[in-house]
Amino acid sequence: MAKSTAKKSTKRTLRKYVYFFGAGKADGKAEMKNLLGGKGANLAEMTNLGIPVPPGFTITTEVCTLYYKNNRKYPSELKAQVDLALSKVEKIMGKKFGDPADPLLVSVRSGARSSMPGMMETVLNVGLTTKTIPGLIKKTNNDRFVYDAYRRLLMMYSDVVMEKAAGIEPEETGGIRHKLEHSMDRLKKEKGYKSDTDLTVEDLKVLCEEFKVIIRQTLKKDFPDEPQEQLWGGVGAVFQSWMGKRAVSYRRIEKIPEEWGTAVNVQSMVFGNTGDNSATGVAFTRNPATGENMFFGEWLPNAQGEDVVAGIRTPNPVNEAGKTDDTKHLPSLESAMPKLYKQLFTIEKKLERHYTDMQDIEFTIEDGRLWMLQTRVGKRNGQAAIRMAVEMARQKLISKETAVLRVKPDQLDELLHPSVDPAAEKKAVELAKGLPAGPGGAIGRVTFTADDAEERAKKGEKIILVRNETSPEDVHGMHAAEAILTAKGGMTSHAALVARGWGKCCIVGCSALNIDVQKKEIHVNERIVREGDWITLNGTKGRVYEGKLDLLPADPDHNLWYKELMKWADQLRILKVRTNADTPNDAAVARNFGAEGIGLCRTEHMFFGPDRIKAVREMILSETVEGRKKALAKLLPFQKVDFIGIFRAMAGLPVTIRLLDPPLHEFLPHTDKELQELADEMGVPFDKLNAKNKSLHEFNPMLGHRGCRLGVTYPEIYEMQAQAIMEAACELTKEKVKVIPEIMIPLVGHVNELVKMKELTVSTAERVKREFGVKVPYTVGTMIELPRACMTSDEIAAEADFYSFGTNDLTQTVYGLSRDDAGRFLPFYVENGLLKDDPFITIDQNGVGSFMKIAVEKGRKVKKDLKMGICGEHGGEPKSVEFCHAIGLDYVSCSPFRVPIARFAAAQAALKDKKKKTK
Ligand code: PEP
Ligand code: MG
Repeated sequence: MAKSTAKKSTKRTLRKYVYFFGAGKADGKAEMKNLLGGKGANLAEMTNLGIPVPPGFTITTEVCTLYYKNNRKYPSELKAQVDLALSKVEKIMGKKFGDPADPLLVSVRSGARSSMPGMMETVLNVGLTTKTIPGLIKKTNNDRFVYDAYRRLLMMYSDVVMEKAAGIEPEETGGIRHKLEHSMDRLKKEKGYKSDTDLTVEDLKVLCEEFKVIIRQTLKKDFPDEPQEQLWGGVGAVFQSWMGKRAVSYRRIEKIPEEWGTAVNVQSMVFGNTGDNSATGVAFTRNPATGENMFFGEWLPNAQGEDVVAGIRTPNPVNEAGKTDDTKHLPSLESAMPKLYKQLFTIEKKLERHYTDMQDIEFTIEDGRLWMLQTRVGKRNGQAAIRMAVEMARQKLISKETAVLRVKPDQLDELLHPSVDPAAEKKAVELAKGLPAGPGGAIGRVTFTADDAEERAKKGEKIILVRNETSPEDVHGMHAAEAILTAKGGMTSHAALVARGWGKCCIVGCSALNIDVQKKEIHVNERIVREGDWITLNGTKGRVYEGKLDLLPADPDHNLWYKELMKWADQLRILKVRTNADTPNDAAVARNFGAEGIGLCRTEHMFFGPDRIKAVREMILSETVEGRKKALAKLLPFQKVDFIGIFRAMAGLPVTIRLLDPPLHEFLPHTDKELQELADEMGVPFDKLNAKNKSLHEFNPMLGHRGCRLGVTYPEIYEMQAQAIMEAACELTKEKVKVIPEIMIPLVGHVNELVKMKELTVSTAERVKREFGVKVPYTVGTMIELPRACMTSDEIAAEADFYSFGTNDLTQTVYGLSRDDAGRFLPFYVENGLLKDDPFITIDQNGVGSFMKIAVEKGRKVKKDLKMGICGEHGGEPKSVEFCHAIGLDYVSCSPFRVPIARFAAAQAALKDKKKKTK
């Protein structure tokens, strides 16, 4: 018994919860992101690469998971492992944690698997107490620095550990951080100081004592004056912050699973604020806003990292090449500390080559010595992602395949977004200039708080969120806004980072803005902009304009990197990409975007034209076949002209035209007033019209008299449409325009419906061909949008020339979800994690997808080469495109502006598939 317990406990103590790094050697490596978090894994990797990294250790994400599993308790072995790792750090640094003579100070930072900028907590300068302060002053000979570090610790610790992690949720201005900042601002004002650096050591001493009193009064607890208590308080706060409101909301938006957990990194402090020989900065190995291959970053002398990121001081450009008109007067690190800049430059090159991707790095210079604090794959907007991917492939840093896989299909969307019309911009009133943090143009109404932005955007308003600076608490409003504008902060500020990640238009550091949050006004250059006023942002140039300027549609054609990347994608993909288009114009736009045909032309959209709706209504009101035929004869020329236009725009490419689908009542007005107007216009009695309208009423129109059921009961409608299609095709064929019509029958549930409608279509088509005396190849197929059609696909395939999955209706019918009403509750399901995705946006692979698979398999068993596509809204959604590739469809069809995204997603699907198969 005793033996077996002993065995068990040795096994348990072997579990490694703490990974050390320092002095050129690390327990971890880059591949261990899941366990060590991104930051921890990369600190280990950099250490192993021989890059100067302050020593430290990472407490694994597994501890986070166990902590929450075990009622917020740590595994019992953790303490001993932390002590051991800390003693190794002490050895390397030659200092001891808590030693009054020469204290080691540490930072405690979060680090999840994928970066969550600013979402979780950090505490710096841990280990500074009344006992260790004198020793540090003696060692550094710099009392101002020590007290500055102490006041930062007081601020961060009370905010992060004593308030947030303790679950205290004060009002916006009642929080401890706000109170401490207020007290510091008051002192600065009293003394007439402009910047934090003007504070003297005596000021800082007074301030620190005042801070402690405010902390005690506000939080009813003393700030802990004991290093170990500070350390474990910091560790606990990081783990707590994983479940904090901000982190939870960011995870939901970014779809990061809760189970991942965060790691905690404890690292020896290095200081960028010990004097003029010290500095700190953030940089990117390439420009994250444009993608240009140029080392790009910001730095501040005599500062700690938070000063750069929080936007408290406007930072300087790291090098001469990165200067703009707005920053040309500021000193670069390259000119101020040329040797250290050179070392940094060598390191950034090494890192980019090693990771084969753009890196976002943080560094600190302490008394003339350079330290790297972080490297991670840098966030970038779409334009930059495309340029970097193409240029890195050209440099042979990565393969073309990797380049294609590296850009998210949705990032292409940003290129397809509008920009401010230069002509309108010339005449516009410029309000202010700022830093161009996120390119593109945006118009919106000014809003000052994230909550307001979210609420108003929900109502459909276009919003621009204006803040002094943003903080992670604002992410929901930033997400809802069209664009973000801040008065403070640099290109690496929170606002800039977050906006870039989302590809949002963003301007930061717009210092001319004087924002009065209370009054909800911006005072700028003698003007006042109030809440709700329209403004325009040019995020590419960093200009803010009064009013609502015209935006120009995006012009990807002039982006050579985009064109190159799309060329590679097209070479790699197997799926064809078509478009859903009902007008010649849409068809032309889509063709320009690379559409390889039309996958769905909804003919009913043509019925609504003002020149023909009358004939449609006359047809509906007719009680006899003759009456209906007469009205349809009036419609025919209109339909024919439409088809000629569309065929011409798609010359040489297939065009799938769907015969009438919606229930007829959709073409009649619904209110008495409108009905009366129509009755007058048509010269029919109101009562007759009203009675007809009532007779068309259905309890469940989506499952009612629609789709091919209309064709079955009113064959003359489909006959007219087939005739119009074929007459258009024949006329163009005579003109030597190549047309490839595909006539599609909607909502088939039973094969007999298809048989009957096909007979009608074929006999009409053959008649028209005979009349015109030309040969036009055409096919007749069906939409697969009902569960019964999927299950009887073997019967249907025998009759169909092609299939097109109508996943809108198929989702509705498989799921029993009304596509018109689900909006009331589906978002709730997604927000609350019941569903990962809205099934009307992303194909529900297990449910709807299973029906599709069955339909494909059964269909292809009967007809090996049966052409199959998808034309539901899912056809332009990347995950769904991947699924369509996986089940072997021939093409996807989507709205014109989604065509490039679908082409790209199709290439990625093919690459991922290839990778899987070669594994
Ligand atoms: C579908 O149901 O997926 C489809 C494309 O048809 P509609 O949306 O017109 O019903
Ligand atoms: Mg449908």
